[in-house]
Amino acid sequence: MIHPINVILHKRDGLELSDAEIQGFVDAIVQRTPEKMLVTDAQIASFLMAVFQRGLNARELATLTRAMRYSGEVFSRVGEGFRVDKHSTGGVGDKTSLLIAPIVAAAGLIDPMISGRSLGHTGGTLDKLETIPGFSTQFSVAEFSRILGECGFAMAGQTPTLVPADRILYGLRDHTGTVESPFLITASIMSKKLAEDLDGLVLDVKVGSGAFMPSYEASQYLAKLMVETGEASGTKTVAVLTSMDEPLGRFAGNWVEVWECIDVMQGRRHPMSRDMIELSLVLSGWMIYLGGKAGSPEEGFAVADSLLASGAAYAAWLKMVTAQGGDVSVFEDPAAFHKPTASRVLRAAADGYFVGIDCREAGWAVQRLGAGRVVPGGPVSAHAGIEMHVKLGDALVAGQELITLFAEDEGLLEEPFGMLAGVVRISPERPLVGALVREVVRV
Ligand code: URA
Repeated sequence: MIHPINVILHKRDGLELSDAEIQGFVDAIVQRTPEKMLVTDAQIASFLMAVFQRGLNARELATLTRAMRYSGEVFSRVGEGFRVDKHSTGGVGDKTSLLIAPIVAAAGLIDPMISGRSLGHTGGTLDKLETIPGFSTQFSVAEFSRILGECGFAMAGQTPTLVPADRILYGLRDHTGTVESPFLITASIMSKKLAEDLDGLVLDVKVGSGAFMPSYEASQYLAKLMVETGEASGTKTVAVLTSMDEPLGRFAGNWVEVWECIDVMQGRRHPMSRDMIELSLVLSGWMIYLGGKAGSPEEGFAVADSLLASGAAYAAWLKMVTAQGGDVSVFEDPAAFHKPTASRVLRAAADGYFVGIDCREAGWAVQRLGAGRVVPGGPVSAHAGIEMHVKLGDALVAGQELITLFAEDEGLLEEPFGMLAGVVRISPERPLVGALVREVVRV
């Protein structure tokens, strides 16, 4: 019998927790009922703060992650294929999931992609997908597995029965100042990803002004913890540290991001999409390599590129969208489906070079245009967003278009316009622009 108070005291005093203590604490969290409060919210919050302050060693972290992973329903295998997924720590204009999942399915891998909604300044894959008329993102584990078997990939939201421990812990972290712990972030993300029963996982850990983590070193540390935790559970895990110093690709928003991906899958590679396409191919390349369909990540990149260029990825995409109830006729003319009722263009105030943008603030501007939620659970606009007309390092002339803002209400343009105008930096000096892929972390 584990007493929650003892677990809290041990962690508070810097002692190592045993596997039984960690497992018992997580069991108490998910098994408690209003009649039988095995552990109280106050005790869970206290445990979270003790972990926040004291950290966890590799064994404790692996045990916490495993206990959370198995705290509810887990996926059972469908078919024989290599199961692989990608997770990103969140970005602005990061729609790579929409390209990666069909690419790796076309390569013969299985991708059970459970995704999230917009969080803070970052966009959410589910919000983007739900702009496709009829498209459903809520399935039971059994329905999800059926679509996965049919299409090689499926894209849906977390079900209430998957990793319930994380839902409870995350809810309390949010208002007890314990979100930013790399240990708690690792257990949260990895328990959900590993519940997909993966053979391989590629993590895209963002660095730069739009990243979730506050410094390069913090992102590097988080990447290392997640890779170690994945490997400890028998999943081949790689983290790629990538730049989030400017919105990724041409658009940031909801439908506009789907449109950008449709263009690419249909063979139109807009120059503003080049960083997004490159990142999608790098991450797909790693997944294809981990799945044994290429001899190296570089060869995986080339395989991914050819699956995109041949239309094989687009065919996989159409099959999945149809299976999930979506109306694929909107892909015939994706530009025509974009119907913002208001727009405004931000122009360069001077000649020079585009040297910087606070990407986090740009993400908040996108959310305020209507792409994000004002209240938890509220609606998001399909057509709000921004179009980038320039990339870092580009030469500018005064008056040139930098960013177009879209909204469904004229009144929603003012504040985001001011926010973006305040964070775009133009300088006479040509800047050194860092590489998109900074580092690969493996153990
Ligand atoms: N995303 C998650 O799912 N969990 C975290 O703790 C942070 C980001």
